Amino acid sequence: MDISTLTIEKALELLARGEITSVSLVEACIEEIKKKDGEVHAYLEVFTDALEQAKIADQKRKDGDTGSLLGIPFSIKDNILIEGKRAGAASKILENYVAPYDATVIKNLKKAGAVFIGRVNMDEFAMGGSTENSAYGITKNPLDTSRVSGGSSGGSAASVSMHGALASLGSDTGGSIRQPASYCGVVGLKPTYGSVSRHGLMAMGSSLDVIGPIAHTVRDCEIVFNAIKGFEGGRDVYDSTSLSADEYKKVASEHVREESRPLRVGIVPALMNMGGVQDSVKKNLEESIELLKKAGCEIVDVELPNIGYSLAVYYVLMPAEVSSNMSRFDGVKFGSKSEGGDLLEDYLKTRGELLGKEVRRRIMLGTYVLSSGYYDAYYNKANVVRKLIADDFKKAFTKVDVILTPTAPSPAFKIGAHSSDPLQMYLEDVFTVTANLVGVPAISVPSGVVEDEGVKLPLGIQFTAPHCREDILFEVGKKFESVRVK
Ligand code: GLN
Repeated sequence: MDISTLTIEKALELLARGEITSVSLVEACIEEIKKKDGEVHAYLEVFTDALEQAKIADQKRKDGDTGSLLGIPFSIKDNILIEGKRAGAASKILENYVAPYDATVIKNLKKAGAVFIGRVNMDEFAMGGSTENSAYGITKNPLDTSRVSGGSSGGSAASVSMHGALASLGSDTGGSIRQPASYCGVVGLKPTYGSVSRHGLMAMGSSLDVIGPIAHTVRDCEIVFNAIKGFEGGRDVYDSTSLSADEYKKVASEHVREESRPLRVGIVPALMNMGGVQDSVKKNLEESIELLKKAGCEIVDVELPNIGYSLAVYYVLMPAEVSSNMSRFDGVKFGSKSEGGDLLEDYLKTRGELLGKEVRRRIMLGTYVLSSGYYDAYYNKANVVRKLIADDFKKAFTKVDVILTPTAPSPAFKIGAHSSDPLQMYLEDVFTVTANLVGVPAISVPSGVVEDEGVKLPLGIQFTAPHCREDILFEVGKKFESVRVK
């Protein structure tokens, strides 16, 4: 079996025809992991029962089960709970934590018959854009191991890119699915906020977080999204922000996409003049626009007047939510503890010694913007601007069906290039944070390569659609895949 050309779609066909088994799929993935992961380090743990799960899936197929992901091997980001497995958010503070229940997405994947190969690396508690902030070492980019895999779902993107799994679940608070997908040459979908339950995902920024798939094709992401999005009986009772199927449909119907006219793709010319966007990225976007025209799309200029504030708004609101979410990690309720002389010293030592530098930086930033006197100046103001940005999108979507931008301002950067300068690292998120602030869905699709030092590095473009219109992302994404130059 040639795992390097397999997609979920293809594997499901072969499985249905009895030409391959889930066991052979999992064995092929484990073979790739053995060959490559010593260097790449995508996996924090390969589950010892992966083959056993595959055997069960094969038996189920023989018994007539037709689960939509029956026998498909997945890797899972280390901040998503699988009952009975360790889950550590790549942090020392959760070193020996074992998940007591399944996240809703895991329940849904189990129902669909997926097989879990292992848990994958990430920036600690999903804070970062390079997987350099993991307490367990860096995940390198499988396409050039001198470079980062992106983050925070770097292990997810790298595991799929190196064929160590057919798909992965990541989480996206400000770009953590899309940016590593673009760096590793795979597809990443950040669904509409609330369309996928957050129950069983370790919270980072609760008004921004969403779980989504990373896979080889747009169609594969669609298959996984369809499997993870539903909840039995309306909303997920464990996530008050989750949308029921009816609510999802109602919101989706607010955007009218007339099938009779060409798909309208909005571009934001002002965005490209922002500093820090590499020329190769600008050129690739222009080429992508031409390809989309060839595919029959209509290109329309749109304005998003407040988009320039997105990054600043994100880096006020996200740390505020982080500082509050992280307060549960006190050495008493969860995970590991460093003993001090008294309770206060316990707290100080536990959080000081077991949380990494970036996590502590964000707790401090968040505590600061929420403190009396600064709350109005920063937190409240950022919320006001968040609403203005959302209004900009609402207006733009009256003219277009989808908005096109690059996914990131550069291809994967060298390991260590930004690690001493947090601001430089934050600037990598310039195109991705907006979708989280607004709650709309966005997808990153590979759009070509740029050559650097003789190595071909992948680039990605990002499509953003109105709330609950993932279908438009899949439509335009597939169109683009059919015309793009690989
Ligand atoms: N890179 C962004 C950050 O550091 C996004 C993280 C995420 O989406 N989890 O906050």
